[in-house]
Amino acid sequence: MQPVGRFAPTPSGRMHLGNVFAGMIAWLSVKSRGGEMILRMEDLDTQRTSDALAQLLREDLTWLGLTWDRETEPQSKRSKVYDRYFERLQELDLLYPCYCTRSQLHSVNAPHLSDGTYVYAGTCRDLTEAQRAAFDRAPSWRVKVPDKLWTVQDLMQGTYRENLLTDCGDFVVRRADGVYVYQLAVTVDDGEAGVTEVVRGNDLLSSAPRQMYLQELFGFSHPAYGHVPMLMSVDGRRLSKRDKDLDLGVLRQKMKPEQLLGILAHACGLTEKPEAVSAKELATVFSWDKIKKEDIYLTLT
Ligand code: GLU
Repeated sequence: MQPVGRFAPTPSGRMHLGNVFAGMIAWLSVKSRGGEMILRMEDLDTQRTSDALAQLLREDLTWLGLTWDRETEPQSKRSKVYDRYFERLQELDLLYPCYCTRSQLHSVNAPHLSDGTYVYAGTCRDLTEAQRAAFDRAPSWRVKVPDKLWTVQDLMQGTYRENLLTDCGDFVVRRADGVYVYQLAVTVDDGEAGVTEVVRGNDLLSSAPRQMYLQELFGFSHPAYGHVPMLMSVDGRRLSKRDKDLDLGVLRQKMKPEQLLGILAHACGLTEKPEAVSAKELATVFSWDKIKKEDIYLTLT
């Protein structure tokens, strides 16, 4: 079967070094096996995203030589599609309205196993119709989760396990303002596009069990997962969007794309020297076993 991968950037800022690294590995994994790459703009949050930034992302990917075979519809245009999947969850009797406020959520619920959010205790699961009617605000909608252990066999992180009931709780699929959340949108979009492998930063590892659960409910097969390590500066700090000098707006002034790819490929263990190299050349030497599993330290001169 031909692999199908994707870039799923959020156009809320310029492409950052961490995005470049995850995008590079996603592209190499697919292209080293002659597969197809999809681009999708994750612009559900219309306040923080813009078409102009989406265009810059396309230009940055093109500059890097990380090409895509087709671009699918941006998430902001797909609420009608998400409605259909939401209705399917309703038909399965798996949804309920939640009226908890943000501060209640953080004070009542225990912290989440791995990502610092909370485990939802099910406060609104069994409200009666009369109790629901007494609230004068629009609810968010949560999907009920089963007491079941989910196992992610991650290409980078090895085995990751989570029981959604005890480690996450029923989770929101549609916000009170009607906007669908990332977990639902990403599952629908990857599933409909026939994505067979999801490669992204390891800050999203704990999202995989939620997405696997929704994939089962929607009748999609599970993709392979590869959650790539975070990039660290040599002084041990995790590089983030806040490091403005590491976004492509700045880096493109300083170096050629092949130099940047060469530094990243060397830092993650793919090549022996940090020499300039094109994405196409890297595809001929790529293999998952070469990529370092631990944090990756980077010096940019
Ligand atoms: N849109 C997310 C981001 O830019 C990535 C989501 C994903 O790859 O599943 O961080």
